[in-house]
Formats: sequence, C-alpha cells, structure tokens
Amino acid sequence: MNAGLSRRALLTTAASAAFAGAACTPRAEPPPPVSWAGAAHQRGHRLRAGQPLPTAAVQKNAAVLIVGGGIAGLAAARGFAAQGIDDIAVLELEDQPGGNSRGHVLAGMACPLGAHYLPLPTPEAHEVSDWLHELGLLRQHLGRTVADERHLCHSPQERLFIDGAWVEGLLPPADPASDTAAQYRRFAQAVAALQGSQPGPRRFALPAHRSVWSAEVAALDRQTFVHWLQVQGLNDERLRWYLDYCCRDDYGAGIHTVSAWAGVHYFASRHGFSVPGESTGESEGVFTWPEGNAWLVQRLAAPLAARIHGGRTVLQVTEQRHGVQVLAWNEHTQQAENWTAQQLVLATPLFIAARVLQNPPEALRQAAALLLHAPWLVANVHLDAPLLDRPGAPPAWDSVRYAPGGGTALGYVDAMHQSLRPHPGPTVITAYHTLPANERTALLAPDPVPWRDRVLDDLAQTHPDIRRRAQHVALTRWGHAMAVPRPGVQHHPALQALRQLRGRVRFAHADLAGYSVFEEAFTLGSEVASPAPVG
Ligand SMILES: Cc1cc2nc3c(=O)[nH]c(=O)nc-3n(C[C@H](O)[C@H](O)[C@H](O)COP(=O)(O)OP(=O)(O)OC[C@H]3O[C@@H](n4cnc5c(N)ncnc54)[C@H](O)[C@@H]3O)c2cc1C
Repeated sequence: MNAGLSRRALLTTAASAAFAGAACTPRAEPPPPVSWAGAAHQRGHRLRAGQPLPTAAVQKNAAVLIVGGGIAGLAAARGFAAQGIDDIAVLELEDQPGGNSRGHVLAGMACPLGAHYLPLPTPEAHEVSDWLHELGLLRQHLGRTVADERHLCHSPQERLFIDGAWVEGLLPPADPASDTAAQYRRFAQAVAALQGSQPGPRRFALPAHRSVWSAEVAALDRQTFVHWLQVQGLNDERLRWYLDYCCRDDYGAGIHTVSAWAGVHYFASRHGFSVPGESTGESEGVFTWPEGNAWLVQRLAAPLAARIHGGRTVLQVTEQRHGVQVLAWNEHTQQAENWTAQQLVLATPLFIAARVLQNPPEALRQAAALLLHAPWLVANVHLDAPLLDRPGAPPAWDSVRYAPGGGTALGYVDAMHQSLRPHPGPTVITAYHTLPANERTALLAPDPVPWRDRVLDDLAQTHPDIRRRAQHVALTRWGHAMAVPRPGVQHHPALQALRQLRGRVRFAHADLAGYSVFEEAFTLGSEVASPAPVG
C-alpha cells in the first residue's frame, strides 16, 4: 500500500534522526499523569459473599433477559431478535456494552480497552462469517471470499525488537542452517501432522467445539504445552519464547500453564506454523480498527440500542416454575430493580453465573471451579509525537520486545496505524501486560502510579523518550480477563453440558470454550439463541 510505504519511510527517517539527538541530551522527564479507565470492578464486587441483598423498588418485565452485554450476550440478543422476538432486555453492569471488547477515547483518539483484532474467520465460524458479510467486511467475488482491505491490518503488521534492532514479523529470526531453524521446521511439521490432511470436519476447529475429538487430541489436552514440547525435543530458546508469547497473547498464560491442546490449536485452527522464507501457506489477515473490536461492538449493539440497559449489576437470578426472576442494581438511580422473564441467558463469566444463579446446576458449579481467569493490565498511552526508535524495521501496528527472561509485557499496538494520514503525529499506543494470578490483588490498589511506571519502564527499553512523549496514561485493570485453557479444560463434560442446556436458563460466554476469543464468544452467543440443542 502506497500510503503505508511513504509513512514507513517518513517514520524511519524522523525517528532515526531524533534518536541520535536524544542520545546526546539525556534529561529526567516529569512522569505523565495517569488515571484508571474502563472496568468498574466495584460494581462486580457487589456480588462478593456476605453482602445483604437490597429490596427492589421497581418492577420490570421482558420476554428474554440477557445478563451481560459482552460479545456473547450481544450475539445472543441479535439471535433472538432475528427470530422475531422483540421483547429482549440486555442487563449490563458497565455503562457501555462490549465487555472485554470495549473501546476508549484518549485525547480525542479512539483506542481499545481490551480486544483489538479479529482474524479472518475460519470455515467453522460461519455465524461470524455471515455477520461480517452483512457488515460488508467480507464479500463473495468469483467464488472466493474477499475481505475489505480498508479494515484489514495495514502493512507493516508486526515487528520484533531482538539483538538490538527491530525485525519484521514476530518469530525471532534464525539462520536457515541453525538448530533454531531446524526446530522451527520440526514444530511446523508436528502441527501439520496433528492437523491431518483428511477432508471433512477438522481436528482443530475454531470454534473449538466443532472439532473432531480423538484419542490423540485428548492426549494433548492432558498435558501442559511445555511438557509436550519437551517430549518432542523442542527446546530452542527462540522457539520457546515465541510459543510462550503466542500463548500469553491469546490465553493469558504461557507454555508452562496452558495445555498442549491449546498450544497446538493456536496454530492448527488457522494456517499452521509458518517458517519464514519456507512457508507455502497463506498469510493470516486480521481486521483491526483504532478502537479495536469496539468497532464490532458498536455494529452489534446499534440495532439493539433500546434493549441494552447499561449500569445494571445483576445480583441474583432465580428460576421459577413459570419464569425467571432477576434482582438487578441500577447503578444510575442507586435502586434495586426486579425483572421477570420467560427465558434468560447468563452471558457473564461462569464464576459470576454461579454466584448469581440460585440453585445452580452441578455442571455450573464444576465449570466455575474448573476455570482460572488470568488478570491483565492494559495501558493506553497518549503520545504527542512519534517515539524515538531503534534501528531496523519501521513502526508497525504491533511492536513486541524479545525478552526470554520473562516479564509480563506483550508489546503495544498503535491506534493510528490504520489512519492514512501522510505524516506521523500524535497517537495512542496500547500496551498489554498479562499478569500472574498472584498480582490480581495488587491490581485493585487505588494508586495507579506503580503500574504506570512498570508500563513506561518496559516501553523505555525500546523507546528511551517515552516519558517525554507520553502526555497521559490511562490504565485498565482486568481482574478476571480470560479463562486459561489449562490441561483438562477443553473437553470437560461440565462445559459441554452447559453449552447444550436449552431450558429456561441458558449460558453463553467465551468461558464455555475454556478460552476467550471473539469467534468463540460470538458463536456461543448465536447458538444459545437457537431453539435446538447443539453438539
Ligand atoms: C485485554 C484483552 C485483550 C483481548 N484481545 C483480544 C483480541 O484482540 N481478539 C479477540 O478475539 N479476543 C480478545 N480478547 C478476548 C475477549 O475476551 C473476547 O474477544 C470477547 O470479548 C469475550 O466476550 P464475552 O461476551 O464472552 O465476555 P465478556 O467480555 O467477559 O462479557 C461479559 C459481560 O458481562 C458483564 N457482566 C459481568 N457480571 C455482570 C453482572 N453481574 N451483571 C450484569 N453484567 C455483568 C460484563 O461487564 C461484560 O460486559 C481479549 C481480552 C482481553 C481481556
């Protein structure tokens, strides 16, 4: 793309010149102001045990109630509306719908609070694909599916800081004759062998419940990814770092924690594992927008607007003989509301569903106990000008630093990357940190300063002027960001049972897949609105 090329050249020249100047004049910069944004954890924590329930002052009614307005809840509402059911109410704790896929605006620029991209859907994600066709993001042309390039991530997409320079792509480079390259090839072959080449349903489908489950796949789900890599003799530091990064990025936990099923599924459900310079496979396009997947949320929510009731924290759900009763706290009026419905979908994380639902089914108790959720920290940093850069590949949408020693950072994306402005200028970068569970409590501390400093210290490793350029840091803490696909989760009977329930109370959330991506949430939400049980 021409605009991308001229932008790339400009950025590289400007940044290199500035980097040289900055090296001569180091000075301490006052830290930028910092604030919390996004998730209202105080609302969710109303549910903690021991809090007395309020008495409802208001009585409301709907044919179908959906608790939780994330992707799954919105997709469920869309599904019921498509069946001609008008009387739907979505009760959402936050003021805005979208859950983990909400967006933010900093210094007038849109940026993500959480989810920021959607890969081109695989054949099994046909509900997602149909909806993207409706939106015009996909269309059929001469028998092929074509994506609207304006919404695909512009080039250059990704870069990695390694050995003192930026390189294109995220896989650490390796001499073709090196042991690293040999291990890349062996991993690619192992993934391809597990994928299989037989026509028909795939072993690693996305959504995952549409996969063919076999003894071989089940064995992957019984062990950690690192154990499987060990058995395969795949111990190269660069390969391990890359796989760990991919798992932390998609699953919120690394190769020591996630199952080998999850580690393989990451690649096998899409285009496999590509060895640079040797791959014959298709490259993977992703849709992205300045505000991340909030772009999709807005389009999912718009037709449902009047049916979405923000600022409603659901405290209790009681299934009754002729309906369902819901006690919700209206965060705006500070009053309790009593809602009744014929049917209800719990589209919240399962540990919340288990807390609010009276007499939960045994499968829900088991599933809630099974799933561990990873905490994340997301930092949106408003920059008044482009950052100084290290040599090598030019600025990309996603920039990551190779750090085999560990650390929580996953790199950052640039909200202005998709803009076609001819000159680089102010922007917002969004830095992601996936945290170990023992840092969840520290995330609740009221003072954001230590977290800001941690984010900026990490960014300073590649951009020494970050403190000078940063005008404001907005931090979002996700205490229970996503379910971690540990061994034993993927095919757990409790999750299968909850997916298939088609009674008065149903469940829809990415948790039901045992891990969290848009396609899972959207499919599970769409399926729950269908009258028939699903496999
Ligand atoms: C930091 C981060 C980055 C991510 N990046 C990506 C990405 O780039 N691409 C991708 O595909 N996926 C990404 N994900 C995964 C993301 O979680 C899914 O894409 C998707 O948004 C999950 O949707 P959901 O509806 O299943 O869950 P949620 O987003 O968890 O929605 C649940 C909803 O229920 C509401 N709720 C909870 N309790 C109550 C209550 N008591 N009463 C009323 N409402 C309640 C919540 O506020 C929320 O809106 C990311 C996740 C995080 C946290």
